[in-house]
Amino acid sequence: MNIRDNLKSKQRIVVKIGSSSLVHAETGRLNLPKIEILAREIADLHNQGKDVIVVSSGAISVGRATMGIGELRTLKQKQACAAIGQVTLMMIYQKLFSEYGQTIAQVLLTKQTMLNDESLRNSRNTFEELFSLGVIPIVNENDTVETYDIRFGDNDRLSAIVTALVHADLLVLLSDIQGLYTEDPRSNPNAEFISEVKEIDEKLLSMAGNAPGSSFGTGGMATKLAAAEIATAAGADMIIALADDFRILHKLINGEELGTIFHAHPHEFRLREVLENMT
Ligand code: GLU
Repeated sequence: MNIRDNLKSKQRIVVKIGSSSLVHAETGRLNLPKIEILAREIADLHNQGKDVIVVSSGAISVGRATMGIGELRTLKQKQACAAIGQVTLMMIYQKLFSEYGQTIAQVLLTKQTMLNDESLRNSRNTFEELFSLGVIPIVNENDTVETYDIRFGDNDRLSAIVTALVHADLLVLLSDIQGLYTEDPRSNPNAEFISEVKEIDEKLLSMAGNAPGSSFGTGGMATKLAAAEIATAAGADMIIALADDFRILHKLINGEELGTIFHAHPHEFRLREVLENMT
């Protein structure tokens, strides 16, 4: 059976949206019609009886645009922008999701607290309680309190950690890249698209430009592959797909051959160790 035929029956789905997919490139301000479609798509997955988590970036970008700051030079500037933008993001999500009859919750996580067994357990319990209440958690890194050398830094890996934490069976990374290619398609016209990855091996990691300094697109293929390693080990399938139109979500769930799908490869691992080894 084709792996994509199974996607309809996924019960617990984490959807990660990159900053560039939520804002207008020219201004950094929120692309409202686009986010409206996202809310409708997620609400519909929830209406199908699935548990859904959204991991949303965009706080820093939106905060910066709100304050009209050009380039963010200091850490405290970035953190202040995250604090400003996070509220705007949640306000818009709340408005749009409530139009579709959905209740959302904000969950801000840090690597530091997740390294603590009790905090990790508490966050898992909170997610479970939110699911049983029929609420859609919207997750981001708590950028304002993060110490920069012990943070996730990217929401790709954060969303994989969340996937493992709640034992989700599917992670969808939506960003400005279509999926995985054999080589960088921007510099090599012969690069071939890879629509299915059964196993993440050394060959794939090097082929995908995992070497430092070479990554495709802004999110970077390296962090996406790192996310795939975590999510698939935790027993979830993972998809990387293009977020230029969020209607891609139901197309993916219906089994359309879009993006790159990674097969789940469940094996024993300790989340704590993954977090400790994450740099
Ligand atoms: N947490 C950051 C933000 O909300 C985004 C991190 C990322 O883009 O991966 O702005």
